[in-house]
Amino acid sequence: MTDTTAAEAAQTALSDALGRLATTPRLLVALDFDGTLAPEVDAAMEARALPEALDAIRRLVALDATTVALVSGRDMSSLTRIAETPDEVLLVGSHGIEVRVDGHTTSLTEEELARREVISSVMHGAADGRDGVFVEEKPAGLALHTRLADAETTREVRAAVHDGLVDVAGVHEREGKNVREYAVRATGKDDGVARLREAVHATAVLFAGDDVTDEDALRSLSGADVGVKVGASDLETAAAHRVGDPWAVARLLHELADLREHLGHA
Ligand SMILES: [Mg+2]
Repeated sequence: MTDTTAAEAAQTALSDALGRLATTPRLLVALDFDGTLAPEVDAAMEARALPEALDAIRRLVALDATTVALVSGRDMSSLTRIAETPDEVLLVGSHGIEVRVDGHTTSLTEEELARREVISSVMHGAADGRDGVFVEEKPAGLALHTRLADAETTREVRAAVHDGLVDVAGVHEREGKNVREYAVRATGKDDGVARLREAVHATAVLFAGDDVTDEDALRSLSGADVGVKVGASDLETAAAHRVGDPWAVARLLHELADLREHLGHA
């Protein structure tokens, strides 16, 4: 098959999957934020969802028996500030540790708080003052951002943090794009999606994401669910479908809104 025909076949397969998904009685649309709805930017707090994507989300939440949720690695306060989504959109932050459903918040035990302190001192000890390295405080841990650091600094700082934490029990490491996160609880986006699915009694889920951490959620899909990987076609994924970038995600969401409107969910 030529590249063009392969791309057309993939697009047809995705459209077919969306057509089937649109018929589900109660639909959950769960979306990663950065790199999925919002193009990647250097300054994390300047990330914004594409207007086209926000428009599609507004159409979807206006439909009957249709819920939209953002499932992000960001902490809830950051996600709330940049998401700019309607109040009906559910938010899951910190890879599923923080959930804004029915005003419920998760807090850490004394032991987990003490362990988080260890992570904090090791990470700040290794990263503070290093060019291009940024430490992000998260509810259940800390994240080491190296997007703006050179390769040597990245390697040194990562090694120092790893060595400082490798023997600490109950510390979970998670790798993302130019970010490595250490947390006192191992939850993933699969947990976030599972909690949302239950909360809204979804009969099928669309999940779209671009990062390594999204694979947890993509692997957890089954049955009538549809998984979409966002990004270059050589990235490994558990998703059955792929799109290239956030613009394609926005088109996909509009297509789903069209289909669901035609099926009488308006
Ligand atoms: Mg992302």
